[in-house]
Amino acid sequence: NSSSDASHQSSTEHPSLEHFWMPFTANRQFKANPRLLTKAEGMYYTDIDGNKVLDATAGLWCCNAGHGRKEISEAVSKQIKEMDYAPSFQMGHPIAFELAERLVELSPEGLNKVFFTNSGSESVDTALKMALCYHRANGQASRTRFIGREMGYHGVGFGGISVGGLSNNRKAFSGQLLQGVDHLPHTLDIQNAAFTRGLSHFGAEKAEVLEQLVTLHGAENIAAVIVEPMSGSAGVILPPQGYLKRLREITKKHGILLIFDEVITAFGRVGAAFASQRWGVIPDIITTAKAINNGAIPMGAVFVQDFIHDTCMQGSNELIEFFHGYTYSGHPVAAAAALATLSIYENEQLFERSFELERYFEDAVHSLKGLPNVIDIRNTGLVAGIQFSPNAQGAGKRGYGVFEHCFRHGTLVRATGDIIAMSPPLIVDKREIDQMVNSLSDAINAVG
Ligand code: PLP
Repeated sequence: NSSSDASHQSSTEHPSLEHFWMPFTANRQFKANPRLLTKAEGMYYTDIDGNKVLDATAGLWCCNAGHGRKEISEAVSKQIKEMDYAPSFQMGHPIAFELAERLVELSPEGLNKVFFTNSGSESVDTALKMALCYHRANGQASRTRFIGREMGYHGVGFGGISVGGLSNNRKAFSGQLLQGVDHLPHTLDIQNAAFTRGLSHFGAEKAEVLEQLVTLHGAENIAAVIVEPMSGSAGVILPPQGYLKRLREITKKHGILLIFDEVITAFGRVGAAFASQRWGVIPDIITTAKAINNGAIPMGAVFVQDFIHDTCMQGSNELIEFFHGYTYSGHPVAAAAALATLSIYENEQLFERSFELERYFEDAVHSLKGLPNVIDIRNTGLVAGIQFSPNAQGAGKRGYGVFEHCFRHGTLVRATGDIIAMSPPLIVDKREIDQMVNSLSDAINAVG
């Protein structure tokens, strides 16, 4: 059959790797020994040599509904035929408004306005600018400082790396980071909280450092605090019990906006639509991207409290209130993918599934305790981090070795330094969870 021959041929043809400068990748190492994916269906990728790879990462925390969803590809195809693109600057198209309305049905109370972006990094920049816009419109233009957190990841824009706290992402650009940014301490505490299931009892007091920063800089100079309710990219760092609530209390007391960066946690990852809902703390702004449309088309969204939006709607109604936006804000094809994705989440009750599977997933990942060099395991919803002590070859080598072994044996996990993160699509079943954990166990034993 010639058509299957053709598809077979295209999946085994290796392209030249010379010209694509790959993001967040050791390019020379990768190109010497590449890992190329060509297909995706359900819980599995297929690599270029035809091997099946179980996806324990939802791509890159994106594909919460699993891969190859027909509902999404059909919606995309229909929309692209009907209207491929239309601007959102002084023009509009119904599907973007429809999506905003659907999204606020899911969002925490009061966050009823949505600004569309194309990525998590853009969502973060948008949120930071909104905070400045709000304070200025509110007659408090001196509030320009931001407070982020050590080990935070907020994408790679200059705003995001400034409030972010991963030193490798900042060091090379340090001369040009935003002025007036300070950082809270991170909440990782292996000494006291290793192998905690869910949120630890230790560390809520780290939120009190915010009071010190307010004293140092003056509340009247601080625009916003931005944190991930759970840090994903730094290796699944959970908030201690009571910590987020304390941040909320202190920010409210001082008129400082609280931004939750939920680019990873929104859309079901931690057992609720938003981490804000799971942990019962409502911020003023929430940034999202990734799973908003199952990673199908680049898209992000910033959710905003009504009072922020309404304060910015000032002056003559002929004036543009917020000089900010992207050519592709509310892109109709990305919006169509998002609407189809939200329907899947709802019809298949995937956020509830993430919550219901939490205990099984937790038991499975914690069974890795006691394996060589495992120094911590952290989990919530359908996300887990497994941390190793570094080996003699240097930081990150053991984590990379485990990742690489898993991949070669048919499971895709994610390594951040010496931490392995697992964040499977929310359609995962118990057998697949077992398979992922077995694969990881074999890799940990083999790498040593
Ligand atoms: N914010 C958080 C919390 C993230 O985890 C990420 C990406 O992983 C981003 C922002 C950046 O998103 P993007 O890579 O889409 O710009």
